[in-house]
Amino acid sequence: MIRNVFFCDSRLSLEAAHIFSVSKSNKMGSRLDDCILENFEIISVYDASNGLTLCKSCHGVFDAHHCYLEPINENGEEIFTLHFTEAIKRSTIPSLIRFYGLEGKRIKFNSHMSKYHPTKKLIEYTKTKFDEAYKGRLNNRFKYTCK
Ligand SMILES: [Zn+2]
Repeated sequence: MIRNVFFCDSRLSLEAAHIFSVSKSNKMGSRLDDCILENFEIISVYDASNGLTLCKSCHGVFDAHHCYLEPINENGEEIFTLHFTEAIKRSTIPSLIRFYGLEGKRIKFNSHMSKYHPTKKLIEYTKTKFDEAYKGRLNNRFKYTCK
């Protein structure tokens, strides 16, 4: 199912980017804890609202937690802004340069398809994962420079 949630304008090789990782939940040998599912109002990791429709390269950046969506209230309407790590924004790698222009992009879900969109809680979870990954990268850099 194609949902109108894109970061960039590419419509090539669209994929479902899961907020709660499908591969991690498979590795654990089970589905996610019922409490987590209930808390985030999803039935399973395969639930449509656990995903965003992204192109292959945005999916890669999203899965590596180099971007997140921030819920904001704009004139009483809930919208989301897209943010990237400094590493992505400052990158000179040709395939990553285009993300610079997407920083702060406003994303609005189609209201008539709301049951297929992530809840605000799930959107906020992208920031939690982003912050955790950022701390992890800082720790790794520290370890590396102190060798
Ligand atoms: Zn994209």
